[in-house]
Amino acid sequence: MKKEGLGIETKIVHGSRGENQVTGAISFPIYQSATFRHPGVDQSTGFDYSRENNPTRQEVEKAIATLENGTAGFAFSSGMAAISTTLELFYPGDHIIVSDDLYGGTYRLFEQVSKKNGIKISYIDTSNIEELQTCINEKTKGIYIETPSNPMMKVTDIKKISALKQQQSILVIVDNTFLSPYYQRPLELGADIVLHSGTKYLGGHNDTLAGFVVVKDEKLIEPIQLLQKTIGAILSPFDSWLILRGMKTLGIRLKKQQENAMEIAKWLTEKEEIEKVNYVGLEDHKGYEISINQASGFGGMLSFAVKNVETVNKLLKNVKIISYAESLGGVESLITYPIKQTHTAIPKEMREKIGVNDKLLRLSVGIEDVDDLINDLEQAMKEE
Ligand SMILES: *Cc1c(COP(=O)(O)O)cnc(C)c1O
Repeated sequence: MKKEGLGIETKIVHGSRGENQVTGAISFPIYQSATFRHPGVDQSTGFDYSRENNPTRQEVEKAIATLENGTAGFAFSSGMAAISTTLELFYPGDHIIVSDDLYGGTYRLFEQVSKKNGIKISYIDTSNIEELQTCINEKTKGIYIETPSNPMMKVTDIKKISALKQQQSILVIVDNTFLSPYYQRPLELGADIVLHSGTKYLGGHNDTLAGFVVVKDEKLIEPIQLLQKTIGAILSPFDSWLILRGMKTLGIRLKKQQENAMEIAKWLTEKEEIEKVNYVGLEDHKGYEISINQASGFGGMLSFAVKNVETVNKLLKNVKIISYAESLGGVESLITYPIKQTHTAIPKEMREKIGVNDKLLRLSVGIEDVDDLINDLEQAMKEE
């Protein structure tokens, strides 16, 4: 025996290999059924109604739980559906500490929905543990982080944050969209809840919206199950199948995306038009050391600031292989202008403070030939 247990790459390909022993089908079937017949009173096949449970959704839920090393996974119709359902675990008066650099839609959810529901929120730089510690009070019930953060790629120490729970019960929630379980598994580092926009790396093909919640502590399974079936923002059987299929190549996609991202980050660093490159894999990145300790890779996301706003206009107008589009994590490279797309909901002062300004671009590196991507950026910057 070379090692104990299965490697992550095997788990990625095989998922949970659910009940499909009858036909031997390699691809898990799509159970396109809204409801299920009962054999008799108080009897069930385990499936009653597809908002509560569906075999195809169950398969993808088991697969993500396996990859994140959790006890249960829950699939939702989008990342935002997963996040908003999770936030229903909190009550009026509860205080949540949130990373100040985060996905704009999540910020909007906290501002427009959570605040209305009486939840108190503090936005801070969670990569600064001292600052975070002083922010905790007796009402603090949650710490919500993205690491690496979107779009500044700041790294938060998940182990250190989780250790803060020893004094009082606080749920540590990590949005693991950027690195995926292939490179980072927050539950193994002490986090309580992992969230995903499955639309991104897990799906991987820019064709499906999905969201996931994964938990470790069994005490969290029932409350989330109840919220999932009651709120009802569940993933459809077909979309569950698309994510199951997409996820099988997560490992090789991310490996190639990281390889490409590293090369592009180094190339950008040398360009005179570029002011600063934020890529966790660069050794001078502030979060490089923490990243080495808590993740097995740096991922395929980077952001960069240009010296002159004109360069932004040229890049977005002239890229040909890379698409100027929102989203990330797919096989196709996408370039995003955070102040106009993903981060419009964040007020200017807050954006400026963290560095999301009119000179910042975010690049989701795909699996294309890296020389073609570099040539594309080069010609786009030159063109008028
Ligand atoms: C896209 C994204 C979300 C929202 O997910 P949707 O699938 O678009 O609803 C949440 N967090 C991060 C980090 C994201 O990139």
